[in-house]
Amino acid sequence: MDILNVQGLKKSFGKMEAVKGVSFAVKKGESFSLLGPNGAGKSTTINMITGLYPPASGSIQIAGVDVVKHPKQAQKSIGVVPQEIALYETLSARENLKFWGRMYDLSGKALEKAVDEVLEIIGLSDRAKDKVNTFSGGMKRRVNIGAAILHKPEVLIMDEPTVGIDPQSRNHILNTVKSLNQNGMTIIYTSHYMEEVEYLCERIGIIDHGELIACGTLRELRETIGDRSRINISLENERPFHIEAASLIDNLVLKEDVVMKDRLLTVFHKEPQSILSELIQLITKNGTKVTSVEIVEPNLESVFLHLTGRSLRD
Ligand code: ADP
Ligand code: MG
Repeated sequence: MDILNVQGLKKSFGKMEAVKGVSFAVKKGESFSLLGPNGAGKSTTINMITGLYPPASGSIQIAGVDVVKHPKQAQKSIGVVPQEIALYETLSARENLKFWGRMYDLSGKALEKAVDEVLEIIGLSDRAKDKVNTFSGGMKRRVNIGAAILHKPEVLIMDEPTVGIDPQSRNHILNTVKSLNQNGMTIIYTSHYMEEVEYLCERIGIIDHGELIACGTLRELRETIGDRSRINISLENERPFHIEAASLIDNLVLKEDVVMKDRLLTVFHKEPQSILSELIQLITKNGTKVTSVEIVEPNLESVFLHLTGRSLRD
């Protein structure tokens, strides 16, 4: 069963078309990621799914409920961790969680129990009484996640929850999300970090310039690049390389498998070792010095690069 079904979502801000017809579906219990660089349209998509603002067109169903027609009812099934942290700085972690719990109509013993359980999950039981303004960014983010799961939602929706926080909290968050998913919660997770997405998510939608340009499991996405590795060759000077590249392409690799950006030449190949020395010889023969060479196994960064000619970090 689809717990989330998104069809033809569109949204513009003035002339800026932020989301240009995005469709995807997520099954109950799945962990799904929207992966894309800054400005791709991840938050805009998420904000429509959570009912923050309506889409210009398209439909969204959560657990069979139409989000546009019945936002309040749809919101009962979801927990949301927004990109911006929203907490009462002068209240303690426990008080913040209790505040959110009351918003979900929890009270009395049930509220206390939910708060205790959540503090345990986010690893802040021992800091429960401390004011949030004494917390690191990562700890605050963990309180935010706690607030989103107090009512045991079917779907947890998180928008770049690890951006700008310390590595320790980051690891804690990734492990928490993984275990919530293993215990049956559906996860929708946006990120521009492919490592996180590879670790957490069964299925991935790659979003760029407001469009979903690929969608599938990690294995399916890797197959779109023919499961080829990537050879990254850093060059000493930045002069245009396409003329030289063209000549080596004829002999060694296909034109569409070569990406030249700034001083980095990227070549996709199934057996990188077999062409490496010839490739470097060709480059040096052309009077360009090679400063470093790296072979990267097929990963999401490669898929993105192959589809867009850009890096996820650009
Ligand atoms: P992401 O979350 O992937 O970084 P966003 O969905 O935040 O991307 O933004 C997509 C595009 O829409 C960007 O070009 C951004 O500048 C623009 N945008 C987002 N929100 C607004 C807004 N409230 N007003 C104007 N432009 C916006
Ligand atoms: Mg965003």
